[in-house]
Amino acid sequence: MNQKSSEAQGTGRRLAIIGAGPIGVECALRALDEGFAVTLYEATSPGAHVRTWSHVTFFSPWSLNRSARGVAALKAAGVEIAPDEDFPTGAEYLDAYLEPLVEELKRDANFQLRDRTRVLGVSRVRALKGDLLADPKRARRPFLLRVSGPEGERFDEVDVLIDASGVLANPNRLGPGGLSAIGEDALNGEVMRRIPDVEAQHDVLAGKRVLVVGHGHSAATTLGALTELREHAPQTHITWAYRADGEPFVEIEGDTLPQRLRLSRLGNAIARGEVSGVEPVGGVFVERITRADDGLHVELADDHGQKREVEVDRIIANVGYHPDTSLTSELQVHLCYASDGPMKLAASLLASAGNADCLAQSSAGPEVLKNPEPDFFVLGNKSYGRNPNFLLKIGLEQIDDVMTLLTQKDDDV
Ligand SMILES: Cc1cc2nc3c(=O)[nH]c(=O)nc-3n(C[C@H](O)[C@H](O)[C@H](O)COP(=O)(O)OP(=O)(O)OC[C@H]3O[C@@H](n4cnc5c(N)ncnc54)[C@H](O)[C@@H]3O)c2cc1C
Repeated sequence: MNQKSSEAQGTGRRLAIIGAGPIGVECALRALDEGFAVTLYEATSPGAHVRTWSHVTFFSPWSLNRSARGVAALKAAGVEIAPDEDFPTGAEYLDAYLEPLVEELKRDANFQLRDRTRVLGVSRVRALKGDLLADPKRARRPFLLRVSGPEGERFDEVDVLIDASGVLANPNRLGPGGLSAIGEDALNGEVMRRIPDVEAQHDVLAGKRVLVVGHGHSAATTLGALTELREHAPQTHITWAYRADGEPFVEIEGDTLPQRLRLSRLGNAIARGEVSGVEPVGGVFVERITRADDGLHVELADDHGQKREVEVDRIIANVGYHPDTSLTSELQVHLCYASDGPMKLAASLLASAGNADCLAQSSAGPEVLKNPEPDFFVLGNKSYGRNPNFLLKIGLEQIDDVMTLLTQKDDDV
């Protein structure tokens, strides 16, 4: 890769990526090969969001989680490549793939990693949001990035901007209609908003009364880990509150992802009341949380106003995430009113909704990644907005699509 980019005809264009997650890093690799001068901004350190679930095993195998280009770059650098069919943990993915790949990128003279540098806001040089509407002159004004890093705040300018900042920093709330439950925002550590590392957080969870909220695969992963914890800490009592009625998981016939099928089966078995020590409460949301002398007093309510009260020590909220749309609010971006993802992609996802198998998806092609704002693209998990079905395999296809758009355009000039 290093050799290739030093040989590549530079486009002379500066491309910035917000977020050094899996998709930001893969996008940097590809953009360097296309001759861009690439700056990768990362609020903390590369792979920071994956690190929050480093103890969790991917349900997709290595072959779907990494690009051929990334594998080739690492092979050339003498890094050992894990077998395609294995399922890494988050930690293994970072150690064996993402971090070595970032080290390779750093060897390229056209690459800059600005870690510990948060992008605070984005606009255009000498153009407000409403200026130069559908005017080709807008594309000739560079993007203006306000960033905050170790050396303080400053403005940077670039020609092409990719937002790959993910969604994990913005967990959804527990209350009715997606609002915070009453009392929720006053709580601190009592609400855990990730899949807990049950081994590392043994003292916090073992023997405790735990409320798990949510009915996605993250909640099922948490429930699986807690039921294992009960095997040697049987006093642990788990209540599971979720919005759906009945069995919340679709068990995909002949599922090629064994981990996903296992989680779906476990979730449905718990919903049927077949797993001891876990009490399922379906069809409810959290209405109110009050601190009591001996823990938390939680009011659950159903759609008919029926209430149910539980006393717990900890709440684990696995109720999804949403994008930070404020980051690019000064740009001309058309967002979907339901998902907060870019509109064209959201519409195409809506059109293909109904297939329970997210693995069956593929990228909807370059056109849906275009925004009213020229040369601005949202890739990766954030491109799906609140839709939880994003997979790395899709993000890798999106990178190809965007590079097709950008390089076609350069050829046209
Ligand atoms: C528990 C869990 C399991 C998953 N398992 C799978 C799986 O098996 N297979 C699969 O394909 N997908 C899986 N996913 C979904 C998805 O692939 C991952 O969430 C993946 O990390 C998304 O990559 P990304 O690069 O889009 O975003 P992220 O990994 O979220 O990276 C975004 C990066 O942007 C940085 N950032 C954010 N804001 C700023 C800012 N303002 N300035 C600078 N930097 C910023 C963050 O620090 C972060 O490093 C899973 C997700 C979760 C949560």
